[in-house]
Amino acid sequence: MARLALVTGGARGLGAAISIALKDAGYRVVANDVNEESAKEFTAKTGIPVAIFDVSNFESTKAGIAKIVAENGGPIEILVNNAGITRDAPLHKMTPENWNAVINVNLTSMFNTTRNVIEGMREKGFGRIVNISSVNGQVGQFGQTNYSAAKAGVLGFTKAVAHEGAAKGITSNAICPGYINTEMVAKIAPEVLKTIVAKVPTGRLGEPSEIARTVVFLAADEAQYLNGATLSVNGALAMCG
Ligand code: NAD
Repeated sequence: MARLALVTGGARGLGAAISIALKDAGYRVVANDVNEESAKEFTAKTGIPVAIFDVSNFESTKAGIAKIVAENGGPIEILVNNAGITRDAPLHKMTPENWNAVINVNLTSMFNTTRNVIEGMREKGFGRIVNISSVNGQVGQFGQTNYSAAKAGVLGFTKAVAHEGAAKGITSNAICPGYINTEMVAKIAPEVLKTIVAKVPTGRLGEPSEIARTVVFLAADEAQYLNGATLSVNGALAMCG
């Protein structure tokens, strides 16, 4: 039977492109999201089921993952931690609510999901974990102390999981997208976005499909030896190590 993949925040944007690309590559895919409206639309369009739960909440995530495993008769073998949000403000204006929301959805979610799939992967002796970080976790960004901290945290988490999982056939890698053409980026003021794109040597925003193909590459059975890596997919905007 084809391997089972879960893509968080999978009903829209990068997550939607990743879910579709994994399905096209032959995996059984379940997406997750909190937004019921985009979930319905996405399933109607693609046939990919969407499990509604909030990845920032440990108990909801535990129950959501247990249901997916029961319905699909086996463990999740590929986990793509993609769900993320922004709540931008310079530090001197940032509220504790916006700090906590971003840390919880972008970073604590990594624990909530991975903790609830890791035992199944260990038993199976196989796992592929792909965590979506950001160029702004590598280089920092004005107005994004919360987001940059969360996304940098994702990189440390990814590497520690790689150490722990390697002997059990589990890989854990991170992708740092640059600026990609999704609704998250559409929220940036057009004049600001123009100055950002002007700094990208490739001269344009990235497309969700360009992140999705990197995920498919990392998810492959053959990618066993690629473990603990951070792959930058940013049109040469920043080269970090
Ligand atoms: P998006 O806002 O278009 O989509 C995010 C999806 O995650 C939405 O469907 C949303 O409903 C879902 N989501 C939000 N909170 C959730 C929660 N608590 N539980 C479950 N689902 C939740 O964003 P995107 O641009 O597709 O970004 C996807 C990921 O890529 C994020 O982690 C983001 O930080 C990262 N990223 C995006 C870019 C970019 O340029 N778009 C760049 C670097 C990194």
